[in-house]
Amino acid sequence: MGILARMAGRIGNIVGKIRGGGSSLPGYLALKIEPDFLDKIVFPKEVILVTGTNGKTSVTNMLAHIYKSAGYNISTNAHGANILQGIATVALNDSNSKGVIEKDVAILEVDEGYLPIIMKQVKPTSLIITNLFDDQADRFGSKYQLAEKIFSSIPEDISLYINGNDPILVNMSRLLSNRKTKYYGIKLEGAQCHGEPCPSCGELLWYTNHHYDQLGEYNCPCGFKNPDYDYFASDVDLENNRFCFGGTGIRAEIRALYEIYNMVAAMTVAVDRGIEENTVSRAIETWTPISGRLESIKWRGKDTWINLVKNPAGFNATLELLRREEKETYSLVVAVNNEPADGVDTTWYEKISWDNIINTPIEGVFVTGSAMNEMIEVLRAKGFKTEGFSLQEDLTIVDRIGSKPVFLANYTAMSSVKNWISKNNQQ
Ligand SMILES: [Zn+2]
Repeated sequence: MGILARMAGRIGNIVGKIRGGGSSLPGYLALKIEPDFLDKIVFPKEVILVTGTNGKTSVTNMLAHIYKSAGYNISTNAHGANILQGIATVALNDSNSKGVIEKDVAILEVDEGYLPIIMKQVKPTSLIITNLFDDQADRFGSKYQLAEKIFSSIPEDISLYINGNDPILVNMSRLLSNRKTKYYGIKLEGAQCHGEPCPSCGELLWYTNHHYDQLGEYNCPCGFKNPDYDYFASDVDLENNRFCFGGTGIRAEIRALYEIYNMVAAMTVAVDRGIEENTVSRAIETWTPISGRLESIKWRGKDTWINLVKNPAGFNATLELLRREEKETYSLVVAVNNEPADGVDTTWYEKISWDNIINTPIEGVFVTGSAMNEMIEVLRAKGFKTEGFSLQEDLTIVDRIGSKPVFLANYTAMSSVKNWISKNNQQ
């Protein structure tokens, strides 16, 4: 492998450390000098890629935790550097001078837009797809277009792990033969309703249980329905933090259904790849959520929480949680930027189901971030009491928030909001 690319990467590492952050700079520089840099890396025998709109960082992180608990040496991008430069950085940091990654397994989160090109260079043995929702339309198009792009690029000799509660994924995966496809899912008791269009015939799907967005338990007169699951969660009890997986009861810090989706995805792959079930369930019970993902925090002595919300599906799952859990008066603090990493298009704010929380004891919504005005416009149209503020300049806001604030932030807004919280907690 090219010495120059490797040297450039080393320099990138040093610069990154001095500047703080800059986590993908080494890979960026290595690819500048050698565009086919990743082709020359010898990856471990087992390479597991995780993609999808929501949950990929958590699933990657959980899977890495399970493999480590089982005694494996792993190579992973646990910090979400999931585009080409990020993968190249992992390869650079974890390989020896001959370009060989001497680990048992690589577990890599991959951006859904970059998946086709990364699969060509990294040659995965397994691929997990968590879900596909509308997200960053300027980059991905619709969820249907994205599904076609992804599924047309999946190589033949791969083990596929598919969320069977997502009709879009299930429909596409049926069109692929020759793949070792395993389905995972969640089985719930619940209300019946019509939902999304059937991806096979276009009629409305009948949901015997609608989880959120297009996810759920569905069937259609044309015969399209959930596949038989190879692995699934049942007896879900969010109040008491538990569910069943196979024959095993799992107790873990869970508040939202999507957290169970993430756990089931990671456990499915680990068990299916041969890790002992006991080790898997013990590991998942001791997994600590990533900072900012439904994280419990203190705000001026009160217990509250913060969550990452970066697209309508994630937002709606969070509002559903508010509707179910918040019985006391609360306020929302929403931080939204429209940087390239968030998607500059803000029209998706209109797809958020704010009606979900209109009857909860909410006092008001405080909005900040570079896309504040776009969000305020949507909230006002829905009838919420709303005001904007600046994290840097507005000193009276802390007192005006009043009741318990629940914090929601999108991708690039998360760290500035968390800094702001810890600063104001100390006063
Ligand atoms: Zn149908």
